[in-house]
Amino acid sequence: MKAKSLQVVPLGGLGEIGKNMTAVRQNSGIVLVDAGMAFPDEEMPGIDLVLPDFSYLRDNSDDLRGILLTHGHEDHVGALPYVLREFPAVPVYGTRLTLGLVRSKLQEFGIKNADLRELKGGQTATVGGYGIEFINVTHSIPGAVAIALDTDAGKIIFSGDYKVDLTPIEGEPMDLGRLAALGNEGVLAYFGDSTNSERPGYVPSERVVGDTLNEVFMRATGRIIVASFASHIHRVQQVVAAAKKHNRLVGVTGRSMIRNVQIARELGYLDLPSEMMVDQRDLRRVPDSDIAILTTGSQGEPLAALSRIAAGTHRTIEAGVGDTVIIAAHPIPGNERGVARTIDGLMKRGAEVCYSPLMPVHVSGHGAKEEQKIVLSLLKPRFLVPVHGEFRMLHHHANTGVSLGIPRENIFILENGDRLQFVDGNARKLDSVSAGMFLVDGGGLAESSDGIVRERQRLAEDGMLVVIARINAQSGQSLGPPDVVSRGFMDAAEANGLMDESIAVVSQTLERTASRRVTDWGELKNEIRKDLSGFLAGKTRKRPIVLPLIVEV
Ligand SMILES: [Zn+2]
Ligand SMILES: [Zn+2]
Repeated sequence: MKAKSLQVVPLGGLGEIGKNMTAVRQNSGIVLVDAGMAFPDEEMPGIDLVLPDFSYLRDNSDDLRGILLTHGHEDHVGALPYVLREFPAVPVYGTRLTLGLVRSKLQEFGIKNADLRELKGGQTATVGGYGIEFINVTHSIPGAVAIALDTDAGKIIFSGDYKVDLTPIEGEPMDLGRLAALGNEGVLAYFGDSTNSERPGYVPSERVVGDTLNEVFMRATGRIIVASFASHIHRVQQVVAAAKKHNRLVGVTGRSMIRNVQIARELGYLDLPSEMMVDQRDLRRVPDSDIAILTTGSQGEPLAALSRIAAGTHRTIEAGVGDTVIIAAHPIPGNERGVARTIDGLMKRGAEVCYSPLMPVHVSGHGAKEEQKIVLSLLKPRFLVPVHGEFRMLHHHANTGVSLGIPRENIFILENGDRLQFVDGNARKLDSVSAGMFLVDGGGLAESSDGIVRERQRLAEDGMLVVIARINAQSGQSLGPPDVVSRGFMDAAEANGLMDESIAVVSQTLERTASRRVTDWGELKNEIRKDLSGFLAGKTRKRPIVLPLIVEV
């Protein structure tokens, strides 16, 4: 790489929502901004989470100098344990709450001795030859920052996730003054959150949700159950405030909710006095009118507490007539059906359910178009790179930039793996590095490839045929016709003729292999698979998985 040049390589978060991760590289080394994960969609059966493919870091493994975290949401820190497993000595920078959440996550993965270094908004540090600065922003979690990097090529800024909330629930306001000062000093490039770039106007303050909660708490006479993202500490705080105002105690259920409430209380981000708290075991002892229960499951996740309550399978909490359930979150795309199922289940039990958009029990944590304009106007970047979002969101953010006078040729809509190079105040796109996704199966224990997912998709769509052949181990002769069993492939009635034909096809295969005295079962299975798959594909245009089983006799 030429001296004074800089490359920025997004490894995730572009053309998608989630798994935000960007590598910044100059001669002095690489720093990584965020290490997030994404949730699987319906086309990934059995997959628990999705990570960015960070083979770019492996290919440059001697150069990674530090990891900078903008805030503690999973789509920004969820991949961190997987990165640290391979780069255990790399220092990680974040604010107090971000590192608090990260610390407990790393514990779950058995990662000790990670080098976690706390920085506050407004503080600076030198990491791998870069000057870095954290700048307070407002978002749906406290301790969120934008990050400015002083590089060989100039100053670049990552917004992280932000909204311009002028009346935040807790903590520092967004440091618009510092953004303006940076803009006056000169910003080479700005990598800005595009999540809500399609939305006109401003996103309302989080306080709006507090007003709604108050109204619901005022009306409710029975038990109140509030589901929210466990990381949404501001919203949790507002539930606590409403409970306090209406003389209710607070119970907490759901593993991640219990954990995050504990971390946020310990670190002073959540004001929930212990005399207001009810232990899970004592939930039933408190009269319905005197308690509010915080829970997970706002996304309809089948195993989360609220889904169990809706299905009537929760160990201690039942919801019924007289109870009020508030779903204080918006479904992430892909989760709509699960959320709808939860709402239906609760209503069938007789509970009253309050949810967005019927009631303002949720506001977004990402700024809309006018807020994006504010930040762009303060920073006045020479180059704009819209990040965090699907293509149309990046596109609209780019248009907003153009409307503010940024020349279109200075705006880059990138894809994961693209390398954007800055030299002498100019920018251009270089050829890209590999940056796909990496699928994690089974609670982070086993990692699976695309191949397994493709196989599951085939199973789901085309089903499976099991072929059982009885073969003499010495001669390779088949003893009688093979059995063919269908699972999810075809209706028995429809398949009747096809089954006989399939048996005939396999019988022919077995005659052929017997004449060659094939006794290598691997070869035999391959032949069966090839012949039968070919036959079925021609007959039905389907490709069920063919599973040959050889019984030695
Ligand atoms: Zn976020
Ligand atoms: Zn995000």
